[in-house]
Amino acid sequence: MRDFEYEAPSTLASAIEQIVQGNGSVKALAGGTDLIDHIRTGRLRPNLVVDVKKIPELNVLEVGSEGLRLGAAVSCTRIYENAEICEKYSALTDACHIIGGIQVQNRASVGGNLCNSGPAADSIPALIALDATCVIAGPQGSREIAVEDFCTAPGRNVLESGEILVELNMPARPAHSGSHYLRFIPRNEMDIAVVGVGASVTLDDSGQNFVSARIGIGAVAPTPLFAKEASEVLFGLPVNEESINKAVEAARAIATPITDMRGTIEFRKHITGVLTKRALEKAIERARQ
Ligand SMILES: Cc1cc2nc3c(=O)[nH]c(=O)nc-3n(C[C@H](O)[C@H](O)[C@H](O)COP(=O)(O)OP(=O)(O)OC[C@H]3O[C@@H](n4cnc5c(N)ncnc54)[C@H](O)[C@@H]3O)c2cc1C
Repeated sequence: MRDFEYEAPSTLASAIEQIVQGNGSVKALAGGTDLIDHIRTGRLRPNLVVDVKKIPELNVLEVGSEGLRLGAAVSCTRIYENAEICEKYSALTDACHIIGGIQVQNRASVGGNLCNSGPAADSIPALIALDATCVIAGPQGSREIAVEDFCTAPGRNVLESGEILVELNMPARPAHSGSHYLRFIPRNEMDIAVVGVGASVTLDDSGQNFVSARIGIGAVAPTPLFAKEASEVLFGLPVNEESINKAVEAARAIATPITDMRGTIEFRKHITGVLTKRALEKAIERARQ
């Protein structure tokens, strides 16, 4: 593997300074489960790797009345070992449970999954469903952006030179809310999603009507998608098959997948509908619990 310099700063300011000084030939490292492989295969050739795991702001994990604050370097394991997060932000913990195996989950962060910006990344549809916002810091200060606007193309995102993803914020969950993420893969585990769908719903007090919904879809376009129309079509509708089918049709309509070794365009569009239905049904079940 190509040699590189390694720094592990303990403050956000020094990390940003080192990244700026790296002058483009620098990559942040959280868990390294994507990055090290990309360096090994020559896809990325940084002269400097800045380990961000020792920075306190990137290790925050708090659930409170304002919602969930998730530091960008927090591992998948730390996330799903938190019972409150499992209960309130189930779509996120569903995704964390299926990113690689145990060893990968002990290292891999949701922030790294997002910054790697793969179209099939498992955490991104879940983050979109949970209405997550990215907090980004750089030499010009900090800014916020919705997760659905973060990825711009396969492997590309809005991060400018010198910027770091600091944390992800998810709003507090209203009463009668539930969420779910699931994917289709040809094997039982350790594979890349053919399609992945995250859904979040809030029901009224009776549990019989949708108040709101959000659906995120992965692996059917160059970037993970917020299925806006499929989400908004459910607002105020009764919870029944007819309503869910409206969302299913709207989700299928925005899927523009490619044919590759994992599936054809037709298959992926079909699976988008199947998984949207299943993600909604499980989210509804959880909202009623
Ligand atoms: C065996 C194996 C199985 C896998 N299975 C899955 C799977 O099932 N589903 C899935 O979605 N992924 C899978 N992955 C990919 C990978 O594990 C995930 O994408 C993981 O979440 C990446 O997180 P990380 O912390 O290791 O990121 P890193 O490898 O540390 O970083 C990934 C990218 O993001 C950048 N980056 C990281 N943190 C920041 C930050 N705070 N600010 C700015 N840039 C940053 C890095 O520079 C790099 O370009 C698998 C990988 C392996 C090796």
